[in-house]
Amino acid sequence: MSSPCTRRVLRHQLIKMKNLENPEQNLRYQTIDDVKIKRVSEDDPDFDSAIDIFADDDNEAELEIKKKLIAENWWLQPEWQEKGEPQEQIDVTIGDYKISVYNFGELLAEQHLEELKSAIENISKVAEGKLLKQVKYILISNVSKFNPQSEENFRGQGAGEMQAIEIFPEGRELVPYGRIEGVSNFESILIHEFSHSMRKVDMDFINAWQKKFWKYIKDVDKRRKMNGVRYAFQQDPVDPQKCVSKYAQTTSDEDICESMVAALINPEVLDNEKLELTSKKLLSVKKNVLQIQLAKKSGQEVKLPEIDGQIKYKAEPSGIMFKPL
Ligand SMILES: [Zn+2]
Repeated sequence: MSSPCTRRVLRHQLIKMKNLENPEQNLRYQTIDDVKIKRVSEDDPDFDSAIDIFADDDNEAELEIKKKLIAENWWLQPEWQEKGEPQEQIDVTIGDYKISVYNFGELLAEQHLEELKSAIENISKVAEGKLLKQVKYILISNVSKFNPQSEENFRGQGAGEMQAIEIFPEGRELVPYGRIEGVSNFESILIHEFSHSMRKVDMDFINAWQKKFWKYIKDVDKRRKMNGVRYAFQQDPVDPQKCVSKYAQTTSDEDICESMVAALINPEVLDNEKLELTSKKLLSVKKNVLQIQLAKKSGQEVKLPEIDGQIKYKAEPSGIMFKPL
């Protein structure tokens, strides 16, 4: 049996060995324990802007704020930390806004950069640039993920609470998109995934789209199944022929994302009514064309994001809303 001291030495050697194998691996990620968090009370000047947490005691509050920060910041998540350092970073500057691309796969080719620039240029035209600003990061993953809805591997995933679009190996392939005629894969999947954030930008547009082009399936027995289980909610396209691709027929959200790809890069293939609604609601305001610049970094120049400064939070007992008045 080894003493605690020997064990510590062993552990230290193990870490040293791991670092020798891959000297840069995992060294520069911020962890949740590095983030300075502080619970504040009403007398703190930042009380109003502090993050709200429901918790009954200090331990629970600390746990909840950490969980929230991990969920919102991809670099605090083991899934990304375990990938090691990204191969390259591309900072895309659009006027005064910045999106950072972190690539965990092979280095991107010149054509990737052109398609990335073109996708961002197109997205910046939507809703006066509001759609663009729902995304802070584009993460190019080196691991595939299966999509049970389309029964093929995912090409990408929308930004969600991390404000980070994920592009899978199948999404970065420099091939035709396949789902829609005359558009390329990488640019199209970028526009598609950006468009998943439309819900945060313009719910009127989403509602108008659903009302006009989709119908709710009330009869449970008529709903589709996934893994043998009926959908809890299903909408069907009023006219499937008006969907720009087969994938667009799966849900109204996918229809919007696929239609956006067509509206922005090959409008001729999109149904007239859908093009009209998209243009009228989203593309009507012509803005000055913004200057887009790409700055590429690799190796030691790659700088991972981190939470700066102190995160202040306030905690309320979780049962507060059930208390009798
Ligand atoms: Zn989608």
